[in-house]
Amino acid sequence: MKISKSFVIEAPGKGSVKPITMPEISEDEFLIEVRACGVCTTDRRMFQGELRVPFPVIGGHEISGIIVSGRFSEDLQVGDVVALDMINRCGYCFYCRKGLDNLCLNSRKARVVEGKHLIAGGFSQYVVAKRRQIFKVNVDPEVATLVEPLACCINSVEKADIQAGESVLIMGAGTMGILHAMLVSLKGAVPFLSDPSEERRKFASSLDMRALKPEMVSGELSSVNEGHGFDAVFVTAPVAELPAQAIEVIRKGGRIVLYTSIHPSVNMPLDWNKVHYSELSVYGTEGRRKVDFARATELIQSMKLNPLITKKIQLEELSRELSNGPEPKDQRTIVVF
Ligand SMILES: [Zn+2]
Ligand SMILES: [Zn+2]
Repeated sequence: MKISKSFVIEAPGKGSVKPITMPEISEDEFLIEVRACGVCTTDRRMFQGELRVPFPVIGGHEISGIIVSGRFSEDLQVGDVVALDMINRCGYCFYCRKGLDNLCLNSRKARVVEGKHLIAGGFSQYVVAKRRQIFKVNVDPEVATLVEPLACCINSVEKADIQAGESVLIMGAGTMGILHAMLVSLKGAVPFLSDPSEERRKFASSLDMRALKPEMVSGELSSVNEGHGFDAVFVTAPVAELPAQAIEVIRKGGRIVLYTSIHPSVNMPLDWNKVHYSELSVYGTEGRRKVDFARATELIQSMKLNPLITKKIQLEELSRELSNGPEPKDQRTIVVF
């Protein structure tokens, strides 16, 4: 039996590293030694008590690792580097059968190990995953932690049906904003990022992306679509005013995607007639489907995502890291083992 060092959150603001005895794996499961796990906004919200989750809980869902044991087959061997799609997609509920497995009715049922709820348990030396949650990757394990966020951004960008030659505004130049900009570029469209943080704008510029102060966006409009506005706007920062601002800078027939959630939730003041007469489309996007995860594992091989990992910490440093928001100078923080 394997003992795993795991970061357990006992209650909001209270977490420590504890030994957990890993469960025996069943026939379709594999034991994975975690090599790295990204720290997501969800993990910070969980630690800070902003999300309603059962405690005690082990967070971390942007997981990469190495296969240790399980029923090996030709396509999965001991030592393989893998990214894990830890959503529980039941495969039989109404939404799974519709191909909308990101909305699975049973996805929130967290596994419990020694009384600890795993959401998804990546802040641990070891995790157990089902065969269908395991994706082999050809990148190093640190970069492989970005497969999950990339998959979520693929799901988002697909919503807006971006065409080559379009101009796209991405509000927020954090990691999700940057990944959106990269995907938009791959579609042959032109991304513009807006962010009030100078450090974030500088970071985007260092990747050859156009980054604007939010108050400069309307001034930029004359150079976009003959002054008619952006073809699409992605809102990746949880700021209540942003959807209304998106409507100000979008062209007729444009698409707005609300990528991020906001906690606590707010009602959006939407100009009814603007949406009606301008034929605007407003989309939500939640997580990623299995198909998005598969695409991300393929795509990540040809993307240069190393610069997005700006901070590496140990499991023992998680309490301090999760107590705060990500600092503007940081993009992704990952826990390494
Ligand atoms: Zn995440
Ligand atoms: Zn389902």
